[in-house]
Amino acid sequence: MPFRSAAIAIGLVLWGALSSSAPIRALEPESLPLSPAVGSRTAVPALDFYDRAVVLCWHTFLGKESIPTDFSVPEFAAQIDTLRSLGYRFATMEDLVFGRIRGPLNLVVTIDDGNHSVPEAYEKVLAPRGIEPAIFIYPAVIGTMFFAMKDSAVRELRDAGCVIGAHGYHHLFINQNLYDHDRFFFNEEVFKSQEKVGEITGLPAYLFAYPYGVYSDITIRELMVAGYRNAFAVRTGFVYADSRLNSPYELPRIVVRRDQWKELLDFLERNAAAATEEIASGVARGVANGAAHGSAAGEGVSAQTEPHGLSVEGPAQ
Ligand SMILES: [Zn+2]
Repeated sequence: MPFRSAAIAIGLVLWGALSSSAPIRALEPESLPLSPAVGSRTAVPALDFYDRAVVLCWHTFLGKESIPTDFSVPEFAAQIDTLRSLGYRFATMEDLVFGRIRGPLNLVVTIDDGNHSVPEAYEKVLAPRGIEPAIFIYPAVIGTMFFAMKDSAVRELRDAGCVIGAHGYHHLFINQNLYDHDRFFFNEEVFKSQEKVGEITGLPAYLFAYPYGVYSDITIRELMVAGYRNAFAVRTGFVYADSRLNSPYELPRIVVRRDQWKELLDFLERNAAAATEEIASGVARGVANGAAHGSAAGEGVSAQTEPHGLSVEGPAQ
């Protein structure tokens, strides 16, 4: 279909240009959120900020070095082991969205698009390490295109415990422009994708990942109408166990790219070092014991969530 092909081709070009011009460092929060303890001279981290996770997004495992988001299966295994060696544990998507994350060193694995290479990567890398990824698929290609998984492969991942979410229907830019100029396609991206993912898995699709990280206010509004619980954008940041600290339809997620792997590792190393420092100083334990909970955490909420607006037409800043 000409429209679909053209839209996808344009999207891929724009995504490459935009994503490569937005280094991780530029998107990083300026500092860990700290709130002063009431009646204390010592600055302590608010407990609510302590339980957090970073969500990572992989795509394909074909071993094609020319594709920035593609890795071989052995490369993927090495990445996972490196992340683990930094002190991170791998949490499930359900633990993440239902607030069961504990501690500051958690990662959640997500894999977008439903490429045919996903099952092998799961079997050889994730399953042996006890990691359950969330898989975001766009149903137009599932079972119909040579590069995508078949329905049965998606169901096998579901049976293994993977959460399957929606990632549009044709993988378009789902923004105000699409809403204004092609409501049929907009509705397919939001509603038909949810319906088809549900048909394939036999489970409700309650999570959404924006193709290319692109969305507008209207996208969020329609996702809410559809009944999605959460949606993932593309930006650096943490998802917190305390849902008050999250923008539920703009949860941060970092795309793992070959050309930005070192920056990603640097960011995660700094997070690990800061967390270790908190623990070593005993400050976090003091907060957990109730030394400074309550209003201090409340101040942190507005300070953290205010800067993120709802209108993002390109890959989120
Ligand atoms: Zn995608």
